[in-house]
Amino acid sequence: MASTSKNSRPDDTLFAHARDPITSAAPTSVPGLATARFVRVAVERGIDAAELSEGLTYRCDLPGVAPGDRVRVPLGRGNKPVRGIVVEAGGIELLDGYAPEKVKAILEHDGGGLSANMVELARWLSSYYVCPLGMVLSSMVPAAVKRATGRRAEVVVERVALDEGSTAALPKNARALTLKIAALPDDRFPFTPKTLARELGLKTTASVSRLVKLGVLSARKRDVIRDFGWTEPDPEDGERSDAPARSVPPSLTDQQSRVVEGVGAALGSFSAHLLRGVTGSGKTEVYLRLIERALAAGRSAIVLVPEIALTPQTSRRFRDRFTALGVSVLHSGLSSSQRHGEWDRVRRGMSRVVVGARSAVFAPLESLGLIVVDEEHDSSYKQDQLPRYNARDVAIKRAQLAGCPVLLGSATPSLESWANVKTDGQNGPAKFSLWELRHRVGGGEMPRVEIVDLATERRVRAQNDPGSVRRQHALGPTLEVAIGKTLDAGGQVMLLLNRRGFAHYIACPDPRCGWVLTCDDCDATLVLHKDRSIPRGGDVACHHCLARRIMPRVCPTCGKAVVVFGIGTQRLEEELLRSLGEAHGLDGRTMLRVDSDTMESARDYFDALGRFARGEVRLLLGTQMIAKGLDFPNVRLVGVVNADTSLNLPDFRAAERTFQLVSQVAGRAGRSKGGGRVIVQTMEPRSPSIVLASRHDYVTFADQELEIRRRSGLPPATRMARIVCRDKDAAKASASAGRVAGSLSESLGLLGITGHVEGPAACAVDRTHGQFRFEVTITAGRAGDIQRVLAACRSAGVLTSDAHTAVDVDPVSLM
Ligand code: ADP
Ligand code: ZN
Ligand code: ZN
Repeated sequence: MASTSKNSRPDDTLFAHARDPITSAAPTSVPGLATARFVRVAVERGIDAAELSEGLTYRCDLPGVAPGDRVRVPLGRGNKPVRGIVVEAGGIELLDGYAPEKVKAILEHDGGGLSANMVELARWLSSYYVCPLGMVLSSMVPAAVKRATGRRAEVVVERVALDEGSTAALPKNARALTLKIAALPDDRFPFTPKTLARELGLKTTASVSRLVKLGVLSARKRDVIRDFGWTEPDPEDGERSDAPARSVPPSLTDQQSRVVEGVGAALGSFSAHLLRGVTGSGKTEVYLRLIERALAAGRSAIVLVPEIALTPQTSRRFRDRFTALGVSVLHSGLSSSQRHGEWDRVRRGMSRVVVGARSAVFAPLESLGLIVVDEEHDSSYKQDQLPRYNARDVAIKRAQLAGCPVLLGSATPSLESWANVKTDGQNGPAKFSLWELRHRVGGGEMPRVEIVDLATERRVRAQNDPGSVRRQHALGPTLEVAIGKTLDAGGQVMLLLNRRGFAHYIACPDPRCGWVLTCDDCDATLVLHKDRSIPRGGDVACHHCLARRIMPRVCPTCGKAVVVFGIGTQRLEEELLRSLGEAHGLDGRTMLRVDSDTMESARDYFDALGRFARGEVRLLLGTQMIAKGLDFPNVRLVGVVNADTSLNLPDFRAAERTFQLVSQVAGRAGRSKGGGRVIVQTMEPRSPSIVLASRHDYVTFADQELEIRRRSGLPPATRMARIVCRDKDAAKASASAGRVAGSLSESLGLLGITGHVEGPAACAVDRTHGQFRFEVTITAGRAGDIQRVLAACRSAGVLTSDAHTAVDVDPVSLM
């Protein structure tokens, strides 16, 4: 795995140095040069040129400038001032071929930004993920922090040491106040004028101002950030009724203790661990205990979770345990100034535990003791824009730089991580230690998973109710009956359907016409989003470019009334109301749809989960937003409406994704004594990923799938990079992709690396936003090989990260 290789920076000799050679006198003959200071600065601009990737050199006449600091420097012919971050500070050795008198000086020093360790991490990201260093550094710090959102200056007052004589000389009133102030403990200072006035029992701050004038108090300004932290929704939301009292940690089970002792023994230096624990096996408790140990050793911790698993349930468990040491929860529900506030608390050491989604891997914690990546297989850890990093892999690199362990947890680890726990015949010992929690806490059974064949279900329905064939049904009789029974018995139901909208295929009913409604700008059909206020009407939307328009009623070619096919969450909702509503008490209050159409903010999502936890909502249906991390004891039935939505994707990870999804959703059922039932509807009831997920047999699935990947030369048996070229002109896009493919093949040959270049080929979705897309993939045995080849193509000028070219190293989606 590349993340653990010691030096993964590309071979510098491969870069063409577009720098001025020294044409003037030898450096030492320039007066004062030996003592001059220089810095290398990465500017915050998306320029991808080899000579910019390591930063630009500037003279530094200002004192105290260190790596990680934010500065302003002149750039280009016009000397336009731009922001940047110092990545290296030193003497003439940084000139590196530049004529010293040509080097410009930095303009402004904005103070500390990032630690030296973070700069080192940024360098790694920049070279590994092929992204300009300045852009990496810039994306490490939230926009709110860079813009200083919510920062304001406030006046604070301090005591001035007075001798007895001057105190005695004060007017009587002021003297009395001065004595009171002198009696206040040191650690209460500084006060704002308002708080001090209140402390002294004064109604206004007038006397405080007077004391400043008299020299009893000194006033100064300081920066504060308005709006600290995040106010959590009602603490009762999502609370388990059978949960033990707060802040009394449960005693660990034997299997948990083994993991805590094992990983705990590794604290203090770098090592990587994979915790495979079935859903409900107590992984989070293991994280909490290990963090406790890291904190006790005076260190700090980061916990990464997928954004949508960042529920009040999760954050409360961390807050309750570590209140005294401070917990910062970073999620998309924070306002900009809250985000800034939390970041600042972390930077000042007021929070020593950070829980957050992907970008929390960059949290500015000092002396890290542990990094946890929960649900490490989750594809939301991968950022789909520059820098295209995977937070799991960045976490491993960061742990290595910080000298602490990293613990990856999942019920269904990614095959990448699974491969890393295997001893490798050629490369020696396994890269990760494997720990397992095989049983649910309290001996709860894993839920029984039934696979139902949708083809059979349709036949049964047609026999029972011949009139029903005209209608499309999302639910077969088995699942429909089970929902009714569960609701009648007082249980709650969760239904997963990984498609939003009403229907995703709008067409002419006449096969001779064959018209289908597609997006003008993308290679995609438009999806109907119904509007209840318009009978049979609504909007059609493209899920790629988000274009929206009114639903056409008739075929534009032949004039026949259009038909709609395919079932999304909106249609499922309608079907549930129609077929189960009256008989089983389902209506707009007791049933809730959770997808990105109904959930506009994190708060909506938290509210929805709260209503489900309190039992107001009895049936929750939704996309994969509901598949993760939720823990509701009364869920007795989980239905996967169509397991094939991810199985048929043109992506080599389709089987892995299907296995993960079915396992994750199944894990939501039967977390209490009542047990639980899971029903998976599929057109492919014999597909190994579905069958093995239904048996909760991760190991067999993973080993089989690993073997398939090995035989076909796909990750994790190899490493991959994917380059997508786009252009409004298909021929141009195809030609650029052709050049990239040619350059990659040539570099493989020149460097003597065994690898494989595929393409150029049209992408699975070959046009989006009006741009044609062509892709090239390269696979090779080791990450370092990929790095060297990409670096060679970059220095040859064939590969740049820009608006037309996207370089994706270790891609997680090939769509
Ligand atoms: P996972 O993260 O593996 O899905 P959790 O850590 O959420 O599992 O644990 C599942 C449930 O079991 C939670 O409600 C948790 O509070 C409880 N739990 C965890 N460990 C213990 C323990 N040792 N004793 C009792 N309850 C526990
Ligand atoms: Zn579109
Ligand atoms: Zn037609």
